[in-house]
Amino acid sequence: MLIFSKYLFVSKSFNAITIWPFIILRDKGLKLDRVVINHEKIHLRQQVELLWIFFFIWYWTEFCINLLRYRDFMKSYYQIGFEKEAYANEYDPGYLQKRKFWSFLKYYK
Ligand SMILES: [Zn+2]
Repeated sequence: MLIFSKYLFVSKSFNAITIWPFIILRDKGLKLDRVVINHEKIHLRQQVELLWIFFFIWYWTEFCINLLRYRDFMKSYYQIGFEKEAYANEYDPGYLQKRKFWSFLKYYK
């Protein structure tokens, strides 16, 4: 389900946030951006696989650890395993059809 809001974004570096079952986009034009939507759908799948709450606990814990390690907001974000999976596969429109359960684990090697 798509929602549009520009007020939820703390940084202009981000165009979308996914909180199952919602994909929140900064502006309506992005709903046509298949790469952005595919990226966010990968996060929807990750959230379902981790029963929603565990995704967010894991995501924010990892982000905080990365922040201590790198002392760089964007690098800490890009190093999150869930983001690595989403960025690595966002250009593949068929990725979610062939993706295996808990595939994000591959990005923690
Ligand atoms: Zn992402």
